[in-house]
Amino acid sequence: MTRLIFLGPPGAGKGTQAQTLAQHLHIPHISTGEILRQAMKEQTPLGIKAQSYVDSGELVPDQLVQDLVQERLEQPDAHSGWILDGFPRKVTQAAFLEELLEKTHQGGEQVVNLDVPDEVVVERLLTRGRKDDTEEVIRRRLEVYRAETAPLIDYYRDRQKLLMVNGNQSLEEVTTKLQNVIAS
Ligand code: AMP
Repeated sequence: MTRLIFLGPPGAGKGTQAQTLAQHLHIPHISTGEILRQAMKEQTPLGIKAQSYVDSGELVPDQLVQDLVQERLEQPDAHSGWILDGFPRKVTQAAFLEELLEKTHQGGEQVVNLDVPDEVVVERLLTRGRKDDTEEVIRRRLEVYRAETAPLIDYYRDRQKLLMVNGNQSLEEVTTKLQNVIAS
């Protein structure tokens, strides 16, 4: 049973790696960013509420993402494991998830931190071309990452759940490293 949380700055390659690994392991790849973008495209109530935050690089309020993650983890396909990408994004969300997993007897999760230097991240984001990848929004997303998300590295290290992977290598090299650390 694999339950994995992917951490790392925007542009670290979390999405690509999480997707590859999820396919390999036949478990769902759950990206809160993807779910929010889809909801925005369809203009669902969730999408409408999330739009201004996503467009400006701010975090969507906890309640919205926590509800969507809880719902997603209740789906039958999540019973055989999952990879969470983009959640949790701050300590309050991590505490929520910890409690949820305990309550639903889904413990044993591991956390992968994809470590990538700042310069590499900015360059990758600028060439990705997503709607929220303008220079100003990228800058804000990195600030938010440092202030809110980076503290999760210590949070999970303290709980002995953290695996560090150097994300500053080729896509294939990162995939191989990930498969090695997770198997162990
Ligand atoms: P991502 O695709 O993970 O880079 O997420 C894109 C955007 O979605 C972020 O900049 C946030 O506005 C929003 N978002 C995604 N996940 C979360 C989360 N766990 N908490 C709050 N906002 C989130």
